[in-house]
Amino acid sequence: MPIPFDNTYAALPEGFSTSVPPTPVSAPSVFAFNTDLAALLGVAHDDLTEVADIFGGNLIPEGATPLAQLYAGHQFGSFNPQLGDGRAILLGEVIDQSGQRRDIQLKGSGPTPYSRMGDGRAWLGPVLREYVVSEAMHALGVPTTRALAAVLTGEPVYRETGAMPGAVLTRVASSHLRVGSFQVFAHRGQIDHLKTLTNYAIARHSPEADGPLGLLQAVCTAQAALIPTWMSFGFIHGVMNTDNCTISGETIDYGPCAFMDAYDHARVFSSIDRSARYAYGNQPQIAVWNMAQLATSLIQQMDDKDAAIEEATAIIHAMPLQIEEQWLARFGAKVGLSAPTPTDQTLIEDLLSLMQQDGADFTNTFAALGTPTARDHFTDRAAFDAWETTWRTRLDGQDPTEVMAHANPVIIPRNHRIEDMIEQAVAGDHTLFERMNTALATPFTSTDPDLHRAPTQQQIVPATFCGT
Ligand code: AMP
Ligand code: MG
Repeated sequence: MPIPFDNTYAALPEGFSTSVPPTPVSAPSVFAFNTDLAALLGVAHDDLTEVADIFGGNLIPEGATPLAQLYAGHQFGSFNPQLGDGRAILLGEVIDQSGQRRDIQLKGSGPTPYSRMGDGRAWLGPVLREYVVSEAMHALGVPTTRALAAVLTGEPVYRETGAMPGAVLTRVASSHLRVGSFQVFAHRGQIDHLKTLTNYAIARHSPEADGPLGLLQAVCTAQAALIPTWMSFGFIHGVMNTDNCTISGETIDYGPCAFMDAYDHARVFSSIDRSARYAYGNQPQIAVWNMAQLATSLIQQMDDKDAAIEEATAIIHAMPLQIEEQWLARFGAKVGLSAPTPTDQTLIEDLLSLMQQDGADFTNTFAALGTPTARDHFTDRAAFDAWETTWRTRLDGQDPTEVMAHANPVIIPRNHRIEDMIEQAVAGDHTLFERMNTALATPFTSTDPDLHRAPTQQQIVPATFCGT
């Protein structure tokens, strides 16, 4: 099965990564394979046994140069000088049909020199969660890593919950470069490596960028666009550590992430986020904080540090306004305004306040806006009616339907469905997994109303666990 590898990361000097093959597993079998993505990547897949062997880690395809990448990162605000791929192995890169270079990475493929106390493995639950959610994000138009395959290993993985079925996820990304990739060299004072990585990142992601600060500007712009996109779909990443913050601006690492049901600006799902650092409404500030860490690292290679600090500070300080503008564009579209003005912010915030106060379902309320059922999502219907009158006045006779149709999905991967899907998958039943993927592939027009429904009181999943 030929994969047209064209590897560049493996060619970087010693110290960027460690060559390490995936650890073979006893009985690989394909749980899911993304044939559309395979076609985009030019990965043939007629032989399912070979698919299982390659994406389970038992067969290294020709042209692959398996390696674990080195990086550092701030985890919940504290710096860890060395992390690295502890359970992921980059097989290599391909140029896809659209000319885009992409990494093909196995996640859960066995220990690496960076595994520390971990087993290098993953269990089926988080693998399928990432598969479904990352593909749903892609269908929503959110920049994201993607899922090519989920392969059962035939081996148990031991977690708090006991022995769970082991699995390997094949993740595809426009690269796995992250803020932490720069932090590790800046922290160690390895300025030559820092320069090499900066040039590599510019060539790969922002060829038009002028030097390290040009790269900083490009990454800030990408992140400033990304976060409001998440927010417009009620997405909470959950672990916005600097090692989970990409240079490409793609969403990465779907751990304890969640789409919220009822709107709550302060919502947290992750059971490990005890200080609510990564709450829904904190995500913009955290993105800025992460970019400040990138700036701090990039500056280490500049000759004139004072000038660099001044320029980088200006770039970082401009980010909140950039995020605000993107937020307004995204949420403006959600209320049918293709060209919202800053004064429309109040209109949008008034609606969100009502939703927060009444615990209205974020997705379904926006999807119902402009229809007679919208008011049913509120307990204070008079307040909503008053808002709607103000909204109609602002629309001034324009039909908002078309703009809203591309901004307000009818379906999101809801937590209670994900939990059910995982439970069924562990029992060997693929039905809900397939059904969710199908419905989530057309999130603005899906016709599976049962999956669109908000959870009942009994169905609500209050928290998500890393459970890696
Ligand atoms: P994450 O929270 O998934 O971003 O992971 C943080 C760090 O822990 C990364 O360096 C991972 O490679 C590592 N890690 C997470 N789970 C495992 C595991 N089961 N075995 C080895 N390393 C792991
Ligand atoms: Mg990570």
